[in-house]
Amino acid sequence: MSPPQVPAAVSVEPVAEAGAVAPAATAPPKKPAARGWPGVGPQLAERLAKIDVFSAADLILHLPLRYEDETHLTLLADVRPGMPAQCEVEVLSCEVTLRPRRQLVARAADASGEVMLRFVHFYPNQQKQLAVGARLRIFGELRDGFFGAEMIHPRVRPVNAGEPLPESLTPIYPTTAGLAQSALRKLVAGAMRHNALRDELPDELRRRLNLPALPDALRLLHAPPPSVSALDIEDRGHPAWQRIKLDELLAQQISLRRAYAARRAKNAPSLPPRERLTRDLLEQLPFALTGAQSRAFAEIAGDLASDHPMQRLLQGDVGSGKTCVAALAMLQAAENGRQAVLMAPTEILAEQHYRKLAVWLAPLGIEVAWLSGSRRKKEREATLARLASGETLLAVGTHALIEDPVALPLLALAVVDEQHRFGVRQRLALREKGQAGESPHMLMMSATPIPRTLAMSYYADLDVSVLDELPPGRTPIVTKLIKDERRDEVIQRVRDACLQGRQAYWVCPLIEESEALQLKTAQESYEMLSEALPELKIGLVHGRLKNDEKSATMAAFVANEVQVLVATTVIEVGVDVPNASLMVIEHAERFGLAQLHQLRGRVGRGVHESVCILLFAQPLSQTGRERLKAIYEHTDGFVIAREDLRIRGPGEFIGARQSGVPLLRYADLEEDAALVDIARGLAEDILRDMPRVADAVTARWFGGRAALLKA
Ligand code: ADP
Ligand code: MG
Repeated sequence: MSPPQVPAAVSVEPVAEAGAVAPAATAPPKKPAARGWPGVGPQLAERLAKIDVFSAADLILHLPLRYEDETHLTLLADVRPGMPAQCEVEVLSCEVTLRPRRQLVARAADASGEVMLRFVHFYPNQQKQLAVGARLRIFGELRDGFFGAEMIHPRVRPVNAGEPLPESLTPIYPTTAGLAQSALRKLVAGAMRHNALRDELPDELRRRLNLPALPDALRLLHAPPPSVSALDIEDRGHPAWQRIKLDELLAQQISLRRAYAARRAKNAPSLPPRERLTRDLLEQLPFALTGAQSRAFAEIAGDLASDHPMQRLLQGDVGSGKTCVAALAMLQAAENGRQAVLMAPTEILAEQHYRKLAVWLAPLGIEVAWLSGSRRKKEREATLARLASGETLLAVGTHALIEDPVALPLLALAVVDEQHRFGVRQRLALREKGQAGESPHMLMMSATPIPRTLAMSYYADLDVSVLDELPPGRTPIVTKLIKDERRDEVIQRVRDACLQGRQAYWVCPLIEESEALQLKTAQESYEMLSEALPELKIGLVHGRLKNDEKSATMAAFVANEVQVLVATTVIEVGVDVPNASLMVIEHAERFGLAQLHQLRGRVGRGVHESVCILLFAQPLSQTGRERLKAIYEHTDGFVIAREDLRIRGPGEFIGARQSGVPLLRYADLEEDAALVDIARGLAEDILRDMPRVADAVTARWFGGRAALLKA
């Protein structure tokens, strides 16, 4: 069997921030070249490929967007403006006019009135169709034109008098230039006729779910019987649609589970808990693990002991203490004499992890290597040599870790922080660093909580541990919404907080259209605050600073030599300075909800009461208002993620741009959550008991697009 195809659902284009991630590694997958199949030549195949149809089987699953009702005729006099209607008319005159531009204009009539038919683009044979005296069925919307009632580009079909009307609705398919509805309709009908359609799901199961058989559902949607109205089946809650969506979700769940199984089947170094270094760290930490951290680490420790690779996602809200769990996992590798790495998406974050690990691990006598783009060549080479010889077991870095010269011969565990910021390929590259014939254990970490339905669908190929508890002693963050005009009062608050020994973040507005403008604004905020707060030391970090400048400023902020840190969203992820208790976000209305939540999570990390001030400018858009309301009302990342999903819809939530592959064509993870549940359970049963069914279902949905889904 060929390896299962994993839909590239969890790959996210790396953000351009800080130039820390290599964009080249995530080029979109190429479409396969279109080849014809019986009845479809190469040129037609080329066009069909544009609508993701690569085979007759794909045609069968190419379902109508909507329907047109040509089952009856309307008299011209009875047509309501704006409502599509079909009329039967006779052509009275037809000419090509040149003013105001070249167009084909015909006058036609039925017993009740007259209509002008107007075509701005037309072919010579259309002109022939519209010969005087021709009888036509026209379908379109009537509007009031300069010369009375007119239809622009109606669909036209010459008929003989008394020709019977179709008995069922006419399907309208998604199509592309050069591929007419009528041609596509014929192709689909042909494919339906010439291909044996079967429902592989056992009858009993289908009856229990109260769904039609797949062939019946397909026939109903492609060629609805006369009894069915467009309204019925355009609503995707119709049982026929439910059956299709269930099939699609099944295919998705099955391929994800298979990908998981295939990865689990690989060999990995077994790293049983030796309770030496891990115990030393636990004794050495200035705090006790939370219950959630202990549970998560126990799950991870169990996985690491296995000789199959761990595939685990550690989800936890900002500040839930993921780093420390990662450190324990890395030590379990080290106490087995093997290497472990921690990869983070930005230089700032990687450096911070490095510092934290170095502090925690120095008393244990464990060295941590630091790899980033900014290390000087000589230091870098020395570090590389120690990693290559296996002398150094632990390393922290940016994507610099996966670059070619980095040899990690003993690699047994790779931890990826903020995993959604890396592309699939980057994670693959990391996986390939280990010994030949061995896959390292993988621990992905994410602070972007994914709502349950999405997680089930997108992470079906991962095991999940959740940190659902924050370390104790955190004071809740107070969130305030303040109008932009009251900025002076806010500056005063910054002064007060800093004079009491606290520190503050000042986050500059996001300007998506222009990085240059964004930098200018950051610079201006920095100057404005330096002037307004002469008694304080102000620092500035943004994505365009050199790495050593950035880390010098961050270090000064950590040491409280800088009290106010003016920053762009480079600080969005991971920055941890417990003494900072005040955060101001300018133009908060421009930020996404997840981003606001991440930013706010930078405060509330110490014992001091923390405040997050969201400055906003009016007028607010509807979604801007909804986002601010959500961030004001909620602090739980999971609740916020749900709100985000509600406001934006799942497509944008996961980020359509990230995969380039429309993973689900018909099912909607939110709307069809109940079906997702069913599909998930069914996928397990089918994989266990009916492998042939599993093959048929995945081949049907992903077969033709295998190359696209491989990424
Ligand atoms: P995140 O999950 O957002 O990555 P971090 O790992 O950065 O969170 O942890 C946030 C802060 O909480 C750090 O300062 C860390 O040292 C501290 N921390 C972690 N676990 C605990 C704990 N069990 N008790 C107290 N503080 C903790
Ligand atoms: Mg973190």
